This record gives sequence, structure tokens and C-alpha cells, in this order.
Amino acid sequence: MPYNHIALIGLGLISASIALAIRRKHKTVKITGTSRSIDTRNKARELGLCEVCENTKDAVKNADLIILCVPVGAMGSVFDEFAATLKEGATVTDVGSVKVEVIASIMPLLPFGVNFVPGHPLAGTENSGPESGFDSLFDNRWCLLTPIKQCPEASVQKVRSFWEGLGAKVDEMDAEHHDLVLAVTSHVPHLIAYTMVGVADDLSNITKSEVINYSAAGFRDFTRIAASDPTMWRDVFLNNKGASLEILGRFTEELTALQRAVRRGDGDLLFDYFTRTREVRRKILEAGQDTDQPNFGREKNN
Ligand code: NAP
Repeated sequence: MPYNHIALIGLGLISASIALAIRRKHKTVKITGTSRSIDTRNKARELGLCEVCENTKDAVKNADLIILCVPVGAMGSVFDEFAATLKEGATVTDVGSVKVEVIASIMPLLPFGVNFVPGHPLAGTENSGPESGFDSLFDNRWCLLTPIKQCPEASVQKVRSFWEGLGAKVDEMDAEHHDLVLAVTSHVPHLIAYTMVGVADDLSNITKSEVINYSAAGFRDFTRIAASDPTMWRDVFLNNKGASLEILGRFTEELTALQRAVRRGDGDLLFDYFTRTREVRRKILEAGQDTDQPNFGREKNN
């Protein structure tokens, strides 16, 4: 662990998991943190996540690594509260799900002598708040760093070691590419889940409680994703507009092709398409990024 004092700005699911993962193996590291609401600060205190401070300036005082763990739309304004108070040589990173806009909001505020290494752990759940955190969240999951030109390689390597110390695997790519990849693998799938659950909810007015009572596994998986935090996901789409619209355009074209195949009874097209997509699932399992247990490993009666 290359840092002695780590400050967590925001005390939700991701930062609570970071605190617990640090504690698991690196017991001597000092962890301070804060959250904007008194309720969340109190919850974090009860959980004993870290030394909870009343404001951001106190939380970052003398910290070597500052991790921004707030929704992407709030990164710039929250950083602005304490940027000028950071010690020389400190490193700032973030966990935001979008990178280009976060970099654009942080860079103009970055003080001389402080480095910024943007990051995004590809790990999370549909739950939020400090009580949802757990220490194994990052085990064997990817964390993507999107270093900027101005940042010394040594700072990037230290942030890499930090995530590896939490159990993650680390890769680097440029921020634009990150936002496109994540639009495909995470952002647009969330929008589709939100839409499908919205459609079912409209229908539930007609079918009363049948949509809820007889929900099959496919729909239940959509509802799990569509239960994700509304603030976080609103900010993702507001800040990754270009890539999301690009992928949604492609999605709509494919959907129209499948719609036509259903109308025309083109079983061959549907079979070939579904065979190709099944192969993608096999590759994800082979890469160790999910479990092959039926029902995603949930308990039978869950
Ligand atoms: P979370 O559990 O909902 O926690 C959000 C934290 O941000 C709380 O401390 C909250 O403070 C604070 N916050 C919310 N709005 C704010 C604002 N306008 N100004 C200042 N603070 C604000 O969220 P999370 O899941 O940990 O997500 C945090 C970040 O991680 C986001 O940038 C998200 O994109 C990224 N991320 C999330 C996941 C995931 O699956 N959840 C995965 C990877 C990355 P209060 O509670 O005190 O209001």
C-alpha cells in the first residue's frame, strides 16, 4: 500500500467498500472521510468505516491520496471546496463511471504540485449508502485508469498499486475510449433495463399485480439493475451523452432488425443471433467475470 493517509470524499457504497478493503489487509493506513449529509456521516461512524470529519477540508488535511467518491456531476464542485488546501505532492483520484467530463471538471481546479489520476473500478451493486459496502467488492474486478498527459508516470503506478492492494486488476486506456466501452457494457444496458421496467410498470396498471407476482428471471434481472441509484445514473447519462447516444443508435437498428425477423417469422435469423450472443456469455464466464451458477448464483428462494 503506497499511501499512509487516504481521504474518502463521499461515504457511499464505493467508498465504504474501499475503506473496508483497505482495513482487510493494510491495518496501519490512516483513513479519513466525509459526506455532505449528517445522516450518512453518522452511519459511517456507527459502521466504524474511518475517522469521519465534518467537512471536506478537515477530511483531506495532510492526506497523501484523496479519492472522490461522489456522483460524477458533483465531482468538480466538491473538489473546488478543498482543492486549494491539499498538500504539495498529494495525489487525487476518483471512482466516477464517466471519465472525459470528470477530467474536464477537475483539471482547471488542480493546484500546482498535486497530481490527478482518474480511475473507475468496474465493481458495484444496485445498492447505495455506506451500509451497502463490503470488503471483497473489488476482488478480481477490473479498475480502469485513464491517465492524463500532465501526470507523472510514478503517480499513476502508485494508484495502480493501491487498487491492486485492494484485490483489483488494473488496466489503462484513454478517457474517450473508456466512455465508449462503458456506454456498451454498462450505461446503455442500464438505460434499457430502466425502459423495460418502465414499460412493465405501465402495463401493470392493466394486468394489476401480475407483472410483480409472476415476474420471470429475465424481468427480475432487469428490475435489479433498474433499482440502481437514480442520482448516480442521471449523472452518468448527462455526462456521457455522446457515447450513450452512439450506442443507443446502434441498439435501435439491431432491435428493428430483430423486430422485423419476429414479424416475418424468420426463425433462422433469430436462432443465429441468439447463438452468437450466447457465445458472449461463455467468454465472460471464461474471463472469470461472472459465475456460471444458475440464476446468477442467487439462493433458490430469493
Ligand atoms: P452512493 O452509495 O449513492 O454514495 C454517494 C455519495 O456521494 C454519498 O456520500 C453522498 O452523500 C454523496 N453525494 C451525492 N450527491 C452529492 C452532491 N451533489 N454533492 C456532494 N456529495 C454528494 O454512490 P456510490 O455507488 O458509492 O457511487 C459513487 C461514485 O462511484 C459515483 O461517481 C459512481 O459513478 C461511481 N461508481 C459507482 C458504482 C456502482 O455500481 N454503484 C460502480 C463504480 C463506480 P450523502 O449520502 O451524504 O448525501
